[in-house]
Amino acid sequence: MTCQEAERLVTPYIRDELTGDELEAFLNHIDECPNCREELEIYFMVDVGLRQLDHDSGTYDIAGDLEHKIEESYLKVSHMWMFRMFRYAVSTLSVMAVIVTALLQFRIWFF
Ligand SMILES: [Zn+2]
Repeated sequence: MTCQEAERLVTPYIRDELTGDELEAFLNHIDECPNCREELEIYFMVDVGLRQLDHDSGTYDIAGDLEHKIEESYLKVSHMWMFRMFRYAVSTLSVMAVIVTALLQFRIWFF
């Protein structure tokens, strides 16, 4: 992912609008690229700051909140992969079950 692509995803990220794959690519980029990480922090602060003005919710740990959001995003990505692996395992097992059933059937027919 290029910086330009990452920048385009900053706002959707803050609004939780990214798909699992976009989220993973975005997190990887943010992890390696201090510039985009900084951009995310600025956008996040502005976004949270504006919402805070709306609700007047007093003091608020913005940096900690972003940290927390990023941690949650990592969890989301790992859940996505676990789900994909599970789905892969299930489809592999069902293909194997079909093959075994067919082999048993052939054995009954031909031996
Ligand atoms: Zn970047």
